[in-house]
Amino acid sequence: MEGMLKPGALKDKTIIITGGGTGLGRSMGKYFLELGANLVITSRKKDVLDKTASDLSAETGGKVLAVACDVRKYEEIDNVIKSAEATFGQIHGVLNNAAGNFISPTERLSHRAFDIVVDIVLKGTYYTTLAAGKNWIAKKQPGTFLNIVTTYAWTGSGYVVPSACGKAGVLALTRSLAVEWAKYKIRSNAIAPGPFPTEGAWSRLLPGDLVKKFDPAERVPLKRVGEHQELANLAAYLMSDYSAYVNGEVITIDGGEWLRNGGEFSHLEMIPDTMWDMIEKTRGK
Ligand code: NAP
Repeated sequence: MEGMLKPGALKDKTIIITGGGTGLGRSMGKYFLELGANLVITSRKKDVLDKTASDLSAETGGKVLAVACDVRKYEEIDNVIKSAEATFGQIHGVLNNAAGNFISPTERLSHRAFDIVVDIVLKGTYYTTLAAGKNWIAKKQPGTFLNIVTTYAWTGSGYVVPSACGKAGVLALTRSLAVEWAKYKIRSNAIAPGPFPTEGAWSRLLPGDLVKKFDPAERVPLKRVGEHQELANLAAYLMSDYSAYVNGEVITIDGGEWLRNGGEFSHLEMIPDTMWDMIEKTRGK
C-alpha cells in the first residue's frame, strides 16, 4: 500500500500527535513525516516515545520531538504546546489519538475504572483541544484538529461502555467546535476506524484466545482488517490543505463493518447459493 498524497503535502507543518509513540498514532505520524511535516509525539511513556522518535527520524529523515505528557493533566498538555513552539515555531495541527479501553461487562466495572477510560478519551481530548485552540486563537493562527473516534461513538456498544461514552463525547466536541471555531480558521474533523491491528488494541480488546474465536476480519464485508497506510492516507488528507473545505465531518474507514452489523438481514450472507436456488423456486408458489 502506497502513500496517496503528493510529496511535500504537509511540508513544514508541525503536527502534535497524542499517543504518537505506538500503534496507529505512530503509523500516521510516520506518513506525516514522509510528507514533510515536523512531528511532536506525546504519551505517558517517555522511553517508548524516545525510541519511536529516533526510529521515525532515521526512517524518514524528518524531525520528531518527543514530550512525555498525560493528557488528563492540563498543565502537561500546555507544556507540550510550549515545547513544540520552542522547537518548531508554529503548530499547525493536532491529532487527538490517545485513548484507553478494555472489555468488561459494565456491571463488573468500578466507578474508578469508568472514570479512567472517560478521563483519557474525553477529558484528554478536550483538554488538548482547549489548550491548543486557545493558543491558536490568541495568536490568530489557523489550525486543524483531527480526532480518532470509533463507529460505536454513534451506535454505542456493550462491553466497552466507558469508551463508547468517551468517544461519543469526542464526536460531539468535533462537530461543535467545527462550527464555533470556524471563524478562527480552525477546522475539526474525525476519523472512525474499524479494526486495524495494533498491539495495544488487540491485547486489550481481543486478549488470549478471543482473537481466534472472534476474528475481526469476519465481521467486515470486505473480509479483512485495515492496513495502517490506508488510515494514514486519510489522516494526512484531513490534516492537509487539500481538505480545507472539509469541516465537522467524521469519516468512517471500516470496510463496511458497522453498516453490515446494523443491517437487519446482513446475516443472510451465510446462505449458500444452493439454498438461494431453492428459495427462488419456492417463491410465489
Ligand atoms: P495504542 O497503540 O494502544 O494507542 C493508544 C496510545 O494512547 C498509546 O500510545 C498510549 O501511550 C496513549 N495513551 C494512553 N493513555 C494516555 C494518557 N493518559 N496520556 C497520554 N497518552 C496516553 O492503540 P491504537 O490501536 O493505536 O489506538 C489509537 C487510537 O485509535 C485510539 O484512539 C483508539 O481508540 C482508536 N481506534 C483504534 C482501532 C483499532 O482497531 N486499532 C479501532 C478504532 C479506533 P502511553 O501508554 O505511553 O501513554
